[in-house]
Amino acid sequence: MAMEYNYRPGLADMPGYDVVERDWRIKINANECGMNLPPLVLERVISRLDRVAFNRYPNEQADMLREAIAEGYNLKKENVVLGNGSSEIIEKLFVTFGGRGHKIVYPQPSFSMYKIYARAAEAEGVPVDLKPDYTLDVNKFIAAVKESEASLAVICNPNNPTGCRLPLKEVEKIARSISCPLLMDEAYMEFAEAECVGGSAVSLLKKYPHVIVARTFSKAYGLAACRMGYMLAAGDIAGMTGKTMMPYCLNVLSLTVADTVWQMRDEYRHRIIQTIAERDRLATGLKKIAGFTVYPSAANFLLVKYDRAAELNEYLTEISIGVRSFGSAPRLENTLRFSIGTPAENEQWLLAVQAFAREEVWL
Ligand SMILES: *Cc1c(COP(=O)(O)O)cnc(C)c1O
Repeated sequence: MAMEYNYRPGLADMPGYDVVERDWRIKINANECGMNLPPLVLERVISRLDRVAFNRYPNEQADMLREAIAEGYNLKKENVVLGNGSSEIIEKLFVTFGGRGHKIVYPQPSFSMYKIYARAAEAEGVPVDLKPDYTLDVNKFIAAVKESEASLAVICNPNNPTGCRLPLKEVEKIARSISCPLLMDEAYMEFAEAECVGGSAVSLLKKYPHVIVARTFSKAYGLAACRMGYMLAAGDIAGMTGKTMMPYCLNVLSLTVADTVWQMRDEYRHRIIQTIAERDRLATGLKKIAGFTVYPSAANFLLVKYDRAAELNEYLTEISIGVRSFGSAPRLENTLRFSIGTPAENEQWLLAVQAFAREEVWL
């Protein structure tokens, strides 16, 4: 029987993050990297762990990584805030700019957590519908930010779960047109950059001090297990956001691994390139299937629209291939999102999808 405790008002009705997790044979539902650490990086991590001072709070390691990331972007340590995944960074930014009566504007469909973080921060989420092809209507977005007198605007670029990329010129137009902070969630930007269609908002930081960039080690750098992300922002925004974080919130293991990965990030280049090539090959294969709409992606996943998406998802679940479906999420009816795995995994799931579409398999 449920007890009648005095839970925080609104908490009981709050949605959770609705991902179905199990021990998938092929796991392509969370946009993770299909491969573990490159051997050279692993070797380095292990030798560094030998020297970790486990008895001390890890402020020194956190400062070191902030310094290293700042240097990589030609910024100062004061411009870098680290978090337990960029999820924590985003959540804390929503807290920093949220509160009663404050509004936070973001596109829809986009990362499902924006809505939840807005609610948790007691702010009002203001979703702006993407166009039918899932591109952003920049003028509409700017108008929504202005009309709502938003305290924070958020754009995911490239966008999850659609894969769509917003060119830097458009990002700059938005930055120029609004005065509230603009958070660019660039969880997948490494893929766009490697393809030279980049357009990271990092290049706008000096000219537009209200631009904030959030990045993560979870996707292109395959470090989802370490929970490590960071934001780049002007010193005042970084300082205020830092106040909402717990002291020593990052653990020394994750800091050490992330620092090593950051130093050795060139080791990841060929993996990122391979993922892009695989994505394009898969997109070509999927497009040939009758009834499939495949949306252009600049990230490590593909969004597909298909009348029988629910049935296909059921079939893939049956054979232990985990993909992301969105249930009844607004504007995502009949869509599935496939993360790009290793070439061997990709071959398998593409064959499974093709066989299902040709009605060679039954539930
Ligand atoms: C995966 C993802 C993140 C963050 O992931 P972390 O593991 O918390 O760093 C942030 N934004 C989007 C859009 C994502 O898809």
